[in-house]
Amino acid sequence: MNWPLWVGLPLLVLLYYASRKRTQPQSVQQVPSAVATSALKAKQTYDAFLVVDVEATCEEGKNFAYPNEIIEFPVYLMKWKDRIGGQASQLEIAAEFQTFVQPTWRPKLSKFCTDLTSITQEQVDAAPRFPEVLRSLRAFLVEHGVLEKTGKRRLKFCWATDGPWDVAEFVVKQAFISQIPVPDWLAGEALDVRQLVRNHLASNSKTVRGNLNISAQLGALGLPPFVGREHRGSDDAQNICRILQKLATEQVPIRPNLHINLRRRWAWMGKSGQILEDKI
Ligand code: AMP
Ligand code: MG
Ligand code: MG
Repeated sequence: MNWPLWVGLPLLVLLYYASRKRTQPQSVQQVPSAVATSALKAKQTYDAFLVVDVEATCEEGKNFAYPNEIIEFPVYLMKWKDRIGGQASQLEIAAEFQTFVQPTWRPKLSKFCTDLTSITQEQVDAAPRFPEVLRSLRAFLVEHGVLEKTGKRRLKFCWATDGPWDVAEFVVKQAFISQIPVPDWLAGEALDVRQLVRNHLASNSKTVRGNLNISAQLGALGLPPFVGREHRGSDDAQNICRILQKLATEQVPIRPNLHINLRRRWAWMGKSGQILEDKI
């Protein structure tokens, strides 16, 4: 029997597509989804990260050796959303803590400092002082299951900051000025996120010249630009969270890379919290 061409050709085309539809989805479904995704997750040994970015008093032209007093202390608690068997790729913000802090040695903010941070004199005047902020922060960490009521660590966590300065320098200086010890839960190992980003980029044969500030890190990681205002502690910290979330999806083990030296001293540190003005 001779089929006419106008019946035979469309029939052949139909038969060809029907056979493709049957075979293609089956071959995709044969890969179990759990296996496919776990291959994209790194082993993550830390339970939580406390992302902090402090703002502090500052004077134009003075470097980081200055006796800066903390004026904003925002903390974002990040935890794994999908950790199974130690493997995870999704970090989420579980809770946030934000406060301004009242400086005591130089209570008046410089114009340079207000312009840089957008923090106003009224905001710091109305704020608690550093020892009280530490008490509130400790209560927050107990409330969210990070610390025991005794102050002992309940979760395996570390502080995470942009660069090595926030805890290792600003907090150490502030504790000296406030004449209080740095609590155990704020000491120990920390994560310098900027350094982690630098290492990650280098391992992908990418180098970023110059200042790898938060904006530059976001750009280098292919993320959308900085959200909020740079040098406002809470905005800086939220953008650091975005960077950590991205690193987590790129299978980077997120863990400490910095030891905080509580004995660090600056030339202006006299006895019992005294600031030697001639050494600044
Ligand atoms: P950042 O987290 O980059 O906003 O910086 C934290 C703190 O470092 C600021 O609140 C200032 O006290 C100080 N700081 C940052 N940039 C400068 C600068 N260019 N000159 C003096 N101090 C600065
Ligand atoms: Mg900072
Ligand atoms: Mg900042």
